[in-house]
Amino acid sequence: MVGAATLTIDLDALCRNYRTLRDAASPAAAAAVVKADAYGLGAERIAPALYREGCRDFFVAHLGEALTLRPLLAADARLYVLNGLQPGTEMLCADAGIIPVLNSLQQIANWSSLGLASPLPAALQVDSGMSRLGLSPAEARLLAAEPARLAGVRPLFLMSHLAHADQPAAQQNRDQLASWDGLRALFPDLRLSFANSGGVFLGPDFHGDLVRPGIALYGGVPSPLAGDTLSPVVRLDVPVIQTRTVPAGTLIGYGGDFVAPAEMRLATIAGGYADGLPRSVAGKGAVYHAGVRLPFVGRVSMDSVVVDASALPEGSLQLGSMVELIGPHQTIDQLADAADTIAYEILTSLGRRYHRVYLPVQQ
Ligand SMILES: *Cc1c(COP(=O)(O)O)cnc(C)c1O
Repeated sequence: MVGAATLTIDLDALCRNYRTLRDAASPAAAAAVVKADAYGLGAERIAPALYREGCRDFFVAHLGEALTLRPLLAADARLYVLNGLQPGTEMLCADAGIIPVLNSLQQIANWSSLGLASPLPAALQVDSGMSRLGLSPAEARLLAAEPARLAGVRPLFLMSHLAHADQPAAQQNRDQLASWDGLRALFPDLRLSFANSGGVFLGPDFHGDLVRPGIALYGGVPSPLAGDTLSPVVRLDVPVIQTRTVPAGTLIGYGGDFVAPAEMRLATIAGGYADGLPRSVAGKGAVYHAGVRLPFVGRVSMDSVVVDASALPEGSLQLGSMVELIGPHQTIDQLADAADTIAYEILTSLGRRYHRVYLPVQQ
């Protein structure tokens, strides 16, 4: 739509990133984590594009997300529910052909009792040192000692999750690897899944048989070891909705926090915190126009924010001009840094109001 704030999602770059991650993890296979609507980018477009690229394993967080995606993917695509199942939802999950990640002995018992006639597929998660989801090491040992607990379960693989993979030198990575090596020895017949995006770059000890990247598919740089191997997937362009020139001493925005130190040329742009622009970018972040940095001035409003356009020649910005919020001059990681947050939060906060354009996969 002419003049609308536009979120451009490059499916070709997405697929390039998938191939990069798959090659980095080979001979392990690469899944795709498409939870939270594929990190805000639209799982209904992202997951089928990755399927066509050869991906067959898809992870979401909630059963509801899996139910939405199931009809959009061919029968040979496997869909896993990372958060596990709430009691009473097992039948719904099994009927839809969705695979739960079982995170506790109780979830294993619930799933097993449903599958006694013919064992039902599941992933088993163990906690290797993050204390979030999965069997504790003691519970894992109990399960290994009492295999009857898995009577109605067909375990597809053992998995665990890394807490610190974005920092390759962190001691916690080595500690989790040691714990994981002990846990997987309890289940010598199971295939293994350990690495998220950052873990892919930690090397083969962390790969197992199936890696589970999320953020790196979407162009976030998950680790300093990733270098510049990943392509940006998202671009966000926002229109100017008003321009003005103000004299020194003028108060700008809510609370009058910002006082113009000199005459300034201002532009108000159509993006605010309701569109996922964090209030914390005030005073630090910027947008770009023709490569020129235009800092935010004053607080971020719900639907708009003011930028200092004084660095541009007069008249460069007018009603309807577009400025770049995410793009070649500002990656999702750079915007996240300016907001004291992470690229994951920038992506999953992207608002519903943007006009969305999906660039197709190149043949
Ligand atoms: C979200 C998630 C991932 C993907 O993590 P990224 O850091 O985005 O690659 C992988 N595994 C589990 C268990 C997760 O919760």
